[in-house]
Amino acid sequence: MAGIAEDITERRRAESELEYQASHDALTGLPNRTVFQQHLEQSTVSARASTASFALMMIDLDRFKEINDTFGHRYGDAVLQEMNPRLRNALRESDILARLGGDEFAALLPGAGESDAVSAAERILESLREPIVFEGQTLDIGASIGIAVYPNHGENPVKLMQRADVAMYAAKRVHGGYALSSPDHAEYTPHRLTLISELRQGIENDQLLLHYQPKFDLKTMQVSGAEALIRWLHPRQGLVPPCQFIPLAEQTGLIRPIGVWTLGTALKQCRAWHEAGLNLNIAVNLAPENLLHQNLIGTIDAMLKSSSTLPTWLTVEITETAMMATPDQVRGILIALHEIGVRISIDDFGTGYSSLAYLKMLPIDEVKIDRCFVKDMVASDKDACIVRSVIDLGRNLGLRVVAEGVEDRASLDLLASWGCDLAQGYYFSRPLPPTEFLDWLNHSTGEHPHFPRINRCDLRGEGLERGDRSGSKRHSRMIEVGRIENACFDEQSR
Ligand code: C2E
Ligand code: CA
Ligand code: CA
Repeated sequence: MAGIAEDITERRRAESELEYQASHDALTGLPNRTVFQQHLEQSTVSARASTASFALMMIDLDRFKEINDTFGHRYGDAVLQEMNPRLRNALRESDILARLGGDEFAALLPGAGESDAVSAAERILESLREPIVFEGQTLDIGASIGIAVYPNHGENPVKLMQRADVAMYAAKRVHGGYALSSPDHAEYTPHRLTLISELRQGIENDQLLLHYQPKFDLKTMQVSGAEALIRWLHPRQGLVPPCQFIPLAEQTGLIRPIGVWTLGTALKQCRAWHEAGLNLNIAVNLAPENLLHQNLIGTIDAMLKSSSTLPTWLTVEITETAMMATPDQVRGILIALHEIGVRISIDDFGTGYSSLAYLKMLPIDEVKIDRCFVKDMVASDKDACIVRSVIDLGRNLGLRVVAEGVEDRASLDLLASWGCDLAQGYYFSRPLPPTEFLDWLNHSTGEHPHFPRINRCDLRGEGLERGDRSGSKRHSRMIEVGRIENACFDEQSR
């Protein structure tokens, strides 16, 4: 009898253990999404019966992916574990807190109205203000909170979740910490919401990739570096160009993890080139939001160390418009970056409204003349004059000048004769995936297998139509890449 009783107790214990595991998240010990959904449904039913209200909060951590990518998963786990006590303390005993997945948490506040929910959101944000210290490393974390209240913002669980989600993105967009669901959020159509959530998943599931486009030095006649250009390999849509998701990422805060991922990936690639004897500089595009990232310098510094790369191998490209948006803030950041040895490049030069005085005040190494002037400079005297003036200006200020979007031989010759330092464009190569980029370099080396050299003879010769030389497989891939580029520009011109 005693044996049987023990068996039963043991089985019950095992069963409840299994039940607990199925309903709770192992890392934080918090209820999971399934349990949270059940609570939400129950709350809706009982609130409907009693005409009470309740609030739903979506809590999404800021800078979590950066911490994971910069310091590793152990640090990310430590941050998530710390969320349980911190968020719990900011809530009432009767409130339900859950981890929905990744760095997403949710809370259900029975009986709460809008003002109660706002106070709770403020307490949560306050509880995250103190940085987390893990193994001697100080980790800054924040959150964006979206609030939807029953019945004002929705009368069923699906609607409430959707409204709270949208409010959370709105909060991310304005860096406001929290936002109450509002009719102003109508721009978040179901299509956009789907795209946002797919992009989130895409970032987590490694669907982003970088293509590399050579930057060609017209003085040494060598490829001196490459620009990393992002693409999203969408499970159904295939390769998506940056113009179709970078603006969305900028509006939803997703640009921050994207920026960190791009920097990390590009630096690792650069390290691999150097190991293979290719002395190339890597240029990474940073959005304004990346630049204003709380600890950009620390993050870049940590990445340079972890990828064993030197600061001088890295160029950050920042658009003129981004620089002008908050010139005072940006100035300090650029000075700090420049001081550690990273090169600074102004992208799309000529399309913004920068005062020339900024060129003097900011620690800039390079200007990239926008494609729109380079494109027509052979045919248009005005464009030619602009390009020439920027080259002269750059030279007089001691800056390197890059012409973007060089597509033909005639433009290249003009640029070289005017003393332009570097050229980039389809004439040399479209942006290519890493292995094809290496192939391209090898085809352009001639007699030096480890050091790319496109000699003058090559430039004078039949042009650099790489696709012609490299067999049909690569040629077709290049066409595929070409299609994306065009998709992007069609989009931009629209
Ligand atoms: P951008 O920085 O001005 O990049 C140059 C764009 O011009 C690239 O488009 C490139 O493929 C295209 N291009 C290069 N040579 C030629 C040419 O000869 N003719 C023509 N017509 N186009 C040429 P892509 O890759 O579609 O990127 C578009 C923009 O998306 C970039 O413009 C940049 O602003 C943004 N972007 C790309 N990657 C990233 C990234 O990792 N982070 C951020 N924040 N933005 C990125
Ligand atoms: Ca660029
Ligand atoms: Ca550009």
